[in-house]
Amino acid sequence: GDEFEAAIGTATRQLVAHWRALAAREVPVTPPCEPGSVLTALPSAPPEQAESLEELLADTWKVIVPGLTHWQHPAFLGYFPTNNSPASVLAEYVTAGLGVQGMMWSTSPAATELEQVVTDWLAQALGLPEVFHHSGGRGGGVIQDSASSAVLVATAAALQRASQGRWRTAGTEGRYRMYCTERAHSCVPKGSRLSGLGEPQLIATVPGTGRMDPDALSARIDADRAAGFVPAIVVATVGTTDICAVDPVPDIGQLCRRENVWLHVDAAYAGSATLCPEYRHLIDGIDLADSYAVNAHKWMRTGTPCDVMWTSDRAALTDAMSISPSYLRNPATDSGHVVDFRDWQVPLGRPMRALKLWYVMRAHGVQGLRDAIRHDIRLAAELASLITAEPGFHLEVHELGLVVFRRDTDDDTRDLLSRLQTDPTLLCTPTSVNGRPAVRAAFGSPYVDADTLHYVWKRIRTHGQCLENPAAS
Ligand code: PLP
Repeated sequence: GDEFEAAIGTATRQLVAHWRALAAREVPVTPPCEPGSVLTALPSAPPEQAESLEELLADTWKVIVPGLTHWQHPAFLGYFPTNNSPASVLAEYVTAGLGVQGMMWSTSPAATELEQVVTDWLAQALGLPEVFHHSGGRGGGVIQDSASSAVLVATAAALQRASQGRWRTAGTEGRYRMYCTERAHSCVPKGSRLSGLGEPQLIATVPGTGRMDPDALSARIDADRAAGFVPAIVVATVGTTDICAVDPVPDIGQLCRRENVWLHVDAAYAGSATLCPEYRHLIDGIDLADSYAVNAHKWMRTGTPCDVMWTSDRAALTDAMSISPSYLRNPATDSGHVVDFRDWQVPLGRPMRALKLWYVMRAHGVQGLRDAIRHDIRLAAELASLITAEPGFHLEVHELGLVVFRRDTDDDTRDLLSRLQTDPTLLCTPTSVNGRPAVRAAFGSPYVDADTLHYVWKRIRTHGQCLENPAAS
């Protein structure tokens, strides 16, 4: 007890100092470490004798932290953000301390009921219709570890519906198909393959938009039906990873309804923006979706993992995944009056997932979360206008907190990317737009501010000028 209390005090002081150093950009974003350097700094065999908690903390800061890429750093603009907050960290600590396993209502009633309430809260805050609320009766939300899991779970439910349950015994028999665009996140084809559907059918996008062409989808579904396939699931994306393109959910949704095909909407990143009413249009037509997923761990101050998935047809989900070996039988489950989240996800066991989101929503208020999103979008807009005004730079995309740009020639863009990738003081990641290389910058660190934005822009311009004048590098 005493040793633990002292260690927690030390860990808290270390973390707070670390957060301050990040906010002040006193540490690099990416570590100055060569492959294998952490491997060789660690003993190759486990300790025979117990070590003190203080020793563990000391080694964390000595060996591990210097080898980390700091996703919370204000100049971390890579990928999409994975942000965090003190409320989220506190909740993870309390969750770990309580050590609850909430696979079923009976294994910790409050863990399940809190998750029902918190996913309903978030559905309200994001403007999702009643059909996705637990309180609505047929639907509800569940916290998954990732958007990838949400795709897998949605595919299982879609197969359940498309096969009327037959796939549970017969397998997929090479009959069922998934549809998405080539811009869908790689977790979508992965989910298709893992579900036994093979590669998804890639639907053309409307030229120059990156958005799925609903006419092309309709034609492909017709052709597949004519060839004896069963269209099972369409995965539409609201905010693709490369350029934040938004598939036309209203048209796709109507088509899916008509064709009785499951529609899953992946809004892993952009979904958080609908906390703000001015971005609600991004999910127009969402009432036509069968499932929807947003990563609170990307842009909602909630540490990873925290993907929130909603369905309007929870029976399809639980029919697809329910399991009832005798060792899990209990009166509450038998009564049919409780939610057992084990049947809404791939693993059986689960930590108490909802405490984190509950703390975050209460500690920030929906207004605080909205303010953070608007702040990041303003910074992205400012970077976009700086790029537009700069000779030799071209703005490709500015959507929400994401800015994608390139240089005049592809060689110059590639050079800029390689210079940026060796600069430890900021992180931007590559993408391609219409087959041309481009640089992505996505805002979302809890510490990013106008000062960091100007710092980052100065670095990007300097790297750009080095290309024009190699002597300057
Ligand atoms: N979908 C989209 C649009 C994403 O941008 C990402 C990750 O960036 C994912 C899915 C995968 O998310 P996860 O890591 O939670 O599986």
